[in-house]
Amino acid sequence: MEAKMSDLFGSMVFNDDVMKQRLPHATYKEMKKTLAAGKDLTLEIAGVIANAMKDWAIEKGATHYTHWFQPMNGVTAEKHEAFISPDHDHVIMEFSGKELIQGEPDASSFPSGGLRATFEARGYTAWDPTSYAFIKDNTLCIPTAFCSYTGEALDKKTPLLRSMEVISRQARRILKLFGRDVNVETTVGPEQEYFLIDKKDFDRRPDLIYTGRTLLGARPSKGQEMDDHYFGTLKPRVAEFMADLDRELWKLGILAKTEHNETAPSQHELAPIYASTNVATDHNQLTMEFMRKVAARHGLVCLLHEKPFAGVNGSGKHNNWSLATSEGYNLLNPGDNPKDNAQFLLFLCAVIRAVDEHQDLLRISVSSAANDHRLGANEAPPAIISIFLGEELTEILEALASKSDYEKKQKTVMDIGVDILPKFPRDTTDRNRTSPFAFTGNKFEFRSLGSAFSVSGPNIILNTIVADVLEQFADELEQAEDFTVSLNRLIRHTIRDHKRIIFNGNGYAPEWIEEAGRRGLLNYTCTADALPHFTDPKNVALFRHHGVFTENELKSRTAIMQENYNKTIRIEALTMIDMVNRDILPAVMGYVSFLTDAALKKAQLGIAASPEKALAQTLSEKSELITSRVAGLAADVEAVPACRGCEAESHYYHDVVVQAMEALRAVVDQTELLVSSKYWPYPSYGEMLFGVR
Ligand code: ADP
Ligand code: MG
Repeated sequence: MEAKMSDLFGSMVFNDDVMKQRLPHATYKEMKKTLAAGKDLTLEIAGVIANAMKDWAIEKGATHYTHWFQPMNGVTAEKHEAFISPDHDHVIMEFSGKELIQGEPDASSFPSGGLRATFEARGYTAWDPTSYAFIKDNTLCIPTAFCSYTGEALDKKTPLLRSMEVISRQARRILKLFGRDVNVETTVGPEQEYFLIDKKDFDRRPDLIYTGRTLLGARPSKGQEMDDHYFGTLKPRVAEFMADLDRELWKLGILAKTEHNETAPSQHELAPIYASTNVATDHNQLTMEFMRKVAARHGLVCLLHEKPFAGVNGSGKHNNWSLATSEGYNLLNPGDNPKDNAQFLLFLCAVIRAVDEHQDLLRISVSSAANDHRLGANEAPPAIISIFLGEELTEILEALASKSDYEKKQKTVMDIGVDILPKFPRDTTDRNRTSPFAFTGNKFEFRSLGSAFSVSGPNIILNTIVADVLEQFADELEQAEDFTVSLNRLIRHTIRDHKRIIFNGNGYAPEWIEEAGRRGLLNYTCTADALPHFTDPKNVALFRHHGVFTENELKSRTAIMQENYNKTIRIEALTMIDMVNRDILPAVMGYVSFLTDAALKKAQLGIAASPEKALAQTLSEKSELITSRVAGLAADVEAVPACRGCEAESHYYHDVVVQAMEALRAVVDQTELLVSSKYWPYPSYGEMLFGVR
């Protein structure tokens, strides 16, 4: 097994080992040097790499290559090109340096949020050599960034790389003050939740097919109340799926590590070992893709939607985030000596202040129509952003903050940094599952992400806001006359000014909403409320200052997110209307007709038919209500304000259409529980979640 695993792991990746083996030594060295300096490869070097890549890929059975990129619709895109090139009467396999470095997909159908007029629809893709090329579906995939010809980012990778550079630069300035001159990068380990259901059931539900979630469906007799699914034994079919998935991911060099059942029936989770942020992002996109593909091989469908089933938990993604030096030292690891402690506290304070000052951005980064069903619904973190630190660490910070300048000075001038931190047991820090942003011993865990999200968006925000604070810290400390005194003051003032963001209590409790209000914390309860703030002047200034987004890029992203929200709800409403009109009402009427026929026949024979009559009466009344509510929903969808993608439209969808959908669902779900399962047109929750037939 050991030997096999080492053959398998990364076997489809053109990684550093492969490059070392396959590239001429001089080319390899030159490439490393260029990349370390953050410069562009020359065409000559690229040509040699491209050729080696092609030979390697062909040996692995590849016939095509593609620039693999992440447009703003949140999925990945690829346009396959065969390696073939004509040579007299036959073809040769070719792949040039130019083809490796840059591509021109016909990209006019990708969302640009107005960044690109159709006459200049072309965008170009550029190789991101910090993420390895890999083979899937017999195609050599080259991870690329996607930009317009004027250099505006049209994708999720470009701004992520920019944000990584920014935080790396600022963190490095801080480390220099502590006498360390090393590179810093952010690390991410995304825990991914998902549902698996039988493909036969999926195929019979238009709502799952069109929208990824059930728009209708009565509660099953059993939900998740027994807590018997969480970490339970895997069903053989699911275990086979997971084993198969692990193998596929390992081939791609993805460190899939933990697979287990989650809270809801049919819900599961996969966690990889963390990696550098852009690699983790690419890998998570691939993980989601392979979850879907591998499920299909097992007659299953993988649902990545945030809320596929009402009444049981939805799915999220926990974004574990930290900063590490190029030597692998974790900067959020509390140290063993005063100097490391001080450095740790400074980075911790930077995150605390960043989260407090930019609650809006973190909230916006996890906004979507689907995630609205989770945030604040007592199964996922509340919509209010706060930080969980655990009692011990909070007490330490409060003690530090409350010391007077004088007292502090007396004590610390002789030390190198701040006081030695008492050791706090790491295990006690991770038990509060209700916090959106929790310190878990040596990393922060941002828990509000939706399961279907690209982790790119939230990490762009995290990197940028923390970089912004680190920059201000560095500006202040570089000027300091006495580093230790200034450092202590900075830490103390930061805790004092931003401790309102720290909350260790129960985030699901209604009192927290009131308390958060008193503390002046933001509470954008839905996407429609949150999104417009993306382009608030403070945010435009922040992203411009760090060169992560231009104002245009920010506006275009907001427009895309808003349009996405509106379109999602529109599709859901239309799907619901069709399901009700074409399947549900006819089914109920058919059953009522069966009941009335039975009652008539019984009457002819002189037998009392009160159950049939009573049920027929009740169901007729339900049908009337369903008919009027579905007509109401249809009228609401017709009446959407005619300003596509604008703010008013989002609010209308949220306030009017979603409400009408909920009212319609309520009565349909009550009706489902009264109608014979033989007549009901769709697989029930019991069938989908528990396999009950
Ligand atoms: P749990 O949250 O279930 O207790 P762990 O804390 O072991 O599990 O890890 C959860 C995720 O956090 C994993 O993907 C892991 O690789 C990731 N992780 C651990 N350390 C770091 C780090 N320094 N930076 C980013 N992610 C990390
Ligand atoms: Mg976790």
